[in-house]
Amino acid sequence: MKAMEEKILTCGQVLPGNVLKVGNFLNQQLDVDFLTEVGKEIARLYDGVGVTKIITIEASGIAIAVMAAQAMHVPCVIVKKHSSANQSKDLYTAEIASFTHGNTYTAAVAKEYINSNDNILIVDDFLACGNAIIGMKKIIDDAGAKLAGCAIAIEKCFQNGGNSLRASGIRVESLAMIKSMSENFVEFVKP
Ligand code: 5GP
Repeated sequence: MKAMEEKILTCGQVLPGNVLKVGNFLNQQLDVDFLTEVGKEIARLYDGVGVTKIITIEASGIAIAVMAAQAMHVPCVIVKKHSSANQSKDLYTAEIASFTHGNTYTAAVAKEYINSNDNILIVDDFLACGNAIIGMKKIIDDAGAKLAGCAIAIEKCFQNGGNSLRASGIRVESLAMIKSMSENFVEFVKP
């Protein structure tokens, strides 16, 4: 998606540790008009494959997941990183190593929100090493549901998570694919 690449070039900032800051439009501040188009593009990519539900992980995947869910007219389920008092005890869980925080956390979702007849699309803001997606896939597998594929706003291809997911047969669609990046420089994979 050319508009995603342009947004990264105009608003993104490369931080130490291979982190791309996109707080200006995707994380802390949301460019809602732009994200509406992102949602429509995800819906276009996965049109006709019978997606019944979108799943994402809190917090920064929520915005595009909601936009995609609106465009596809399906519910959006949010996997929680933190337990809360009003959360069900009947959970699907996965241990996930966090790329940005350097720790491991238990992601959880109440069993009532995923059914074995669901065909689920995973949506997230970034794909780096693939741990968040592998964790969400475990939850989908544990529920006996089907994984339709993944839709990612920004894939950092040099971190190889996307390649190993594709090699294992999972459909991964990334709206911007970064080949390399350094301070003041971002290079995209050529189509
Ligand atoms: P992975 O699990 O694929 O290694 O990392 C994906 C998760 O880490 C995403 O859910 C995202 O929140 C976070 N993440 C990974 N790389 C970046 C990055 O460069 N910038 C930001 N803002 N988040 C990232």
